[in-house]
Amino acid sequence: MEGGMAENGAECPTKTNRRGVCFVISAPSGAGKSTIANALRASDTRLRHSVSVTTRQPRPGEREGVHYYFRSMEQFEAMAEAGEMLEWATVFGRGYGTPRGPVEVTLAAGHDMVFDIDWQGHQQIRKALPADVVSLFVLPPSMTELERRLHGRASDHPEEIARRMAAARDEISHWREFDYVIVNTELDRAIAEARAVLMAARQAVSRQAGLADFVHTFGV
Ligand code: 5GP
Repeated sequence: MEGGMAENGAECPTKTNRRGVCFVISAPSGAGKSTIANALRASDTRLRHSVSVTTRQPRPGEREGVHYYFRSMEQFEAMAEAGEMLEWATVFGRGYGTPRGPVEVTLAAGHDMVFDIDWQGHQQIRKALPADVVSLFVLPPSMTELERRLHGRASDHPEEIARRMAAARDEISHWREFDYVIVNTELDRAIAEARAVLMAARQAVSRQAGLADFVHTFGV
């Protein structure tokens, strides 16, 4: 509901009356989670992206501060040690983590955030922010299709693809830990389903405490 004056003169709550949703999307590499997350952000300017820190090399086209903060392992470990990361994990032998500061500021300002993190990050962030997290797991239609999609990415070497296929089964084994699951057989449908999950999360009664004064004006 947008802000404004109701018929009875009560002030309708604005979209910033609630804390943001911490929308975690996990999937094996190649299942389409980045594409889905990008599509959600493209159609919703209120949605923010959590930019992770990583120790891996940038892929062609990836930019510092946009796709990742690219850091050395020493810098990464120093951040983790100083408590500057909300969660962090080692994925494919490289460090990946979520900087804490931007998340706290963004959620408190009422903006929803998308997190493209793995199952380990999901477990940690759920513990850190239990009331804020809504999580979605994206399954590929099959392992054969997953491999085909990974080969379609020119940026990853064959050894990297083999490593990611091995890791995919491990990632998928955690699907039951998530709140929602979708199968990305057809991209448009998967995007619509992910959007529906986010929309429902926004309207959860537990997140709409700001409506209490407004509802009171109805005499209840
Ligand atoms: P990629 O190298 O393909 O960008 O990401 C590899 C994996 O690391 C993906 O499964 C991605 O979700 C995960 N990942 C990216 N950022 C983070 C993070 O901040 N924390 C955790 N735990 N995993 C991350």
